[in-house]
Amino acid sequence: MALYVMKFGGSSVGTIERMKSVAKRIVEKQDEGHQVVVVVSAMGDTTDDLIDQAKLLNAEPMAREMDMLMTTGEQISMSLLSIAIGALGRQCVSYTGWQAGFRTEPVHGKARITDIVPTRVVSALEGGNIVIVAGFQGMTEDGEITTFGRGGSDTTAVALAAAISADFCEIYTDVDGIYSTDPRMVQHARKLKEISYDEMLELAHLGAAVLHPRAVEYAKHHQVCLVVRSSFNHNEGTVVKEEVSMEQGVVVSGIAYDKNVARISILGVSHVPGVLAKVFGSLAEADINVDIIVQSGDLEGKADFSFTTTLSDRKKALEVIQGIASEVNFSEVTSEENLVKVSIVGAGMISHPGVAAQMFDVISKQGVNIKMVSTSEIKTSCVIESDKLNEVVIALHTAYGLDSEGQAFIGGKDRR
Ligand code: ASP
Ligand code: MG
Repeated sequence: MALYVMKFGGSSVGTIERMKSVAKRIVEKQDEGHQVVVVVSAMGDTTDDLIDQAKLLNAEPMAREMDMLMTTGEQISMSLLSIAIGALGRQCVSYTGWQAGFRTEPVHGKARITDIVPTRVVSALEGGNIVIVAGFQGMTEDGEITTFGRGGSDTTAVALAAAISADFCEIYTDVDGIYSTDPRMVQHARKLKEISYDEMLELAHLGAAVLHPRAVEYAKHHQVCLVVRSSFNHNEGTVVKEEVSMEQGVVVSGIAYDKNVARISILGVSHVPGVLAKVFGSLAEADINVDIIVQSGDLEGKADFSFTTTLSDRKKALEVIQGIASEVNFSEVTSEENLVKVSIVGAGMISHPGVAAQMFDVISKQGVNIKMVSTSEIKTSCVIESDKLNEVVIALHTAYGLDSEGQAFIGGKDRR
């Protein structure tokens, strides 16, 4: 007998029919002799719809009320699913995040979990129940309801799995597992049998939307064995764990892309000590996330800087820089959109020189200029213009030997 946490995403429980088939799937697991705790997301587009409704009433709805509102989506799922399982003659009980013992920091919309006291979950399990827990929600010490940020139900599942020492945490979604790249873009994307936490973390941060980065971080920290698989079929999924056996000759495991990129350049900056600290300190104070930073040219004491940020932070970043114009001498600030960051990720890159050079070569053969580069031990990212993204990703996928024979299975739209 093993203890499983099974997490079902929004599209897996998007309709009453799907809810029924998920209920069957859960019962199947119990029939195999296992104990089951289930984490659910809100049905289909419920969370988006709730946000839209709030915005019709108030362009800037209060963060606290948004948490009150959004947590109802998961509560509908948990109770309906429990009712469906009851109809199959099983003992089942659902809990909100706070009933399940999720304590969080006092932050609305993106709270971090501070502690989990899963007493009720454990005793309900011991009483022979299937336990359903609402995803992405918790409560502060003061009894305020909080959410973990969009896509946060993955984190609920992983954190709960760690807290109750589950043997497996299965993430059921609308794709068969983790793919070498976006199967909607590359027909021959291959499903990975396994992938390491570190690689998955890079891919999740770099734009692969199947797993929430925070959930992967949590899984790594607590060594939770994660399995990503489809709720629509019984195919084997992808296992995410610490060490994976490297396939012979495969140095790159995955290719990710992120279209949410804007580049800002500050030209002709007086190159004196403290300038970078001032610029990036001010951006940090304004809560603007900066990704790649490049400094170039150092002519007669003048340098140019570029950095990337998200599209939504572009305007704010420009304002911050204009705001410090009197302290930092520069001749011009420019910004660009229509960019994309393409990244290759692979644990094998550390020990194989020339992997990045090959990437630059493949991109140049597509006639595309590379605007910025950043690297870590297990990834290389290039910022390029977005118009040839498809061609570049397909060419990289082939160049690194990732193409599979078969065609990828693509389901609904659990991935953001
Ligand atoms: N329902 C929330 C969202 O759509 C949480 C989740 O699905 O993980 O972001
Ligand atoms: Mg959702």
